[in-house]
Amino acid sequence: MILILLGPPGAGKGTQARLIMEKTGLVQLSTGDMLREAVAAATEQGQAAKAAMEAGALVSDDVVIAITAERIEKEDCRDGFILDGFPRTVAQAEALDRMLDEKGCRLDHVIEIRVDDEELVKRIAGRFVCTKCNENYHDPFKRPAIEGTCDKCGGTKFIRRNDDREETVRARLAAYNRETAPLLPYYQARGVLRSIDGMNPIGEVAKEIELLLAG
Ligand code: ADP
Ligand code: ADP
Ligand code: ZN
Repeated sequence: MILILLGPPGAGKGTQARLIMEKTGLVQLSTGDMLREAVAAATEQGQAAKAAMEAGALVSDDVVIAITAERIEKEDCRDGFILDGFPRTVAQAEALDRMLDEKGCRLDHVIEIRVDDEELVKRIAGRFVCTKCNENYHDPFKRPAIEGTCDKCGGTKFIRRNDDREETVRARLAAYNRETAPLLPYYQARGVLRSIDGMNPIGEVAKEIELLLAG
């Protein structure tokens, strides 16, 4: 199964992708995580991406398409994958269509997670992430079961992303509305788009996605 999670920054794409991964075994492909790793490792792609990420702008299509194309060739993607944060522009969506055509694969679902701007700002302001496994947490919505210890990997180091500051968040929301929102009619026209209410608690959103994938 090939699944895209679409939605503005903070909507819960990463959170839901990881829950779907636990339930189905499908791998989560987060372009944001891949780009942050590339920046940390100071690869050529990371150096090209760094300034845009810090400014809350999108990284160039070329870089993101290359990273994704390379990633989906790996063995763990053979039975499908969950795309979290890709595509984010029509050019990326068209490139994905070509990649899937070449592999003889088809896109099964595009799930839009809808959340109001005010709630997005709250979610991003409270987000912190395990440095070891990238699990997302939230103060106060989703705290680790044992204070200071990651539920998933036992890691004890957490960070707040430096693009989660309020000025940058506004730029990211604007980028979503300008460049990513046009993907909604794009996928609507292909009959694969489903929209869900992302304002509910994490478990309820997960249930709704589960029903949708089953149906
Ligand atoms: P995205 O990947 O879309 O940017 P995340 O999955 O990182 O979003 O979620 C943003 C923040 O909001 C995280 O701190 C996460 O723990 C929290 N969160 C995610 N889904 C919900 C929800 N349904 N209700 C409350 N908080 C949520
Ligand atoms: P969020 O879900 O909170 O928006 P991500 O971790 O998905 O954050 O992305 C962080 C940043 O990485 C984005 O603001 C953007 O600069 C870059 N990025 C991630 N995915 C893409 C993409 N598909 N195209 C362009 N830039 C991307
Ligand atoms: Zn962890």
